[in-house]
Amino acid sequence: MQLEQAGAVFIDKDGTLVEDVPYNVDPAKLSFTPHAVDGLRLLAAHGWRLVVVTNQPGIALGRFDLNALHRLRDALVERLAAQGVELLDFLACPHAPRAAMPCDCRKPAPGLLQQAAQRHGLDLAASWMVGDILDDVEAGARAGCRTVLLDVGNETLWRHSHWREPTLMAPDLLAAARRIVAARPRRRHLPSREAAASP
Ligand SMILES: [Mg+2]
Ligand SMILES: [Zn+2]
Repeated sequence: MQLEQAGAVFIDKDGTLVEDVPYNVDPAKLSFTPHAVDGLRLLAAHGWRLVVVTNQPGIALGRFDLNALHRLRDALVERLAAQGVELLDFLACPHAPRAAMPCDCRKPAPGLLQQAAQRHGLDLAASWMVGDILDDVEAGARAGCRTVLLDVGNETLWRHSHWREPTLMAPDLLAAARRIVAARPRRRHLPSREAAASP
């Protein structure tokens, strides 16, 4: 049996785990992206805990309510469980983009990942974030995780910054899982390149 990892793999929902159907809360319209379930199963088999982190502005915008989102979450959890995959948690930002008072949980902010880490005692530096746009990458990087961008054509703006450089790219969730499973643990207690470069 695999030892449990100290970290988790954070997974974006729309466009990463399930096909992106804007503002969907109908369980009947949930469909997994290609090889997504195999990817999660591989990660779980290697002891990775799995956490879904998703922006759901439809709540703030009045498209659906929290109960509808919870029904969708429960359906997703059930569908995954039926295929042998257990989620550790599912965290959603219910806030609107460009709100007068911006929240700290809407990706690209790292709040959802930090909440999950606090709730479950996860080591963010040992964790990964997988998503289909650079806002996911930024949220992961800001939380201190390594990141995977699924190169599936969903990112269209390509605004770059220090935080928006994925650790690696992959064509789907299974390929991402294989790369994560094969990656070396981060080395600790060694001077980072940044530290070595500073005077
Ligand atoms: Mg997405
Ligand atoms: Zn939020």
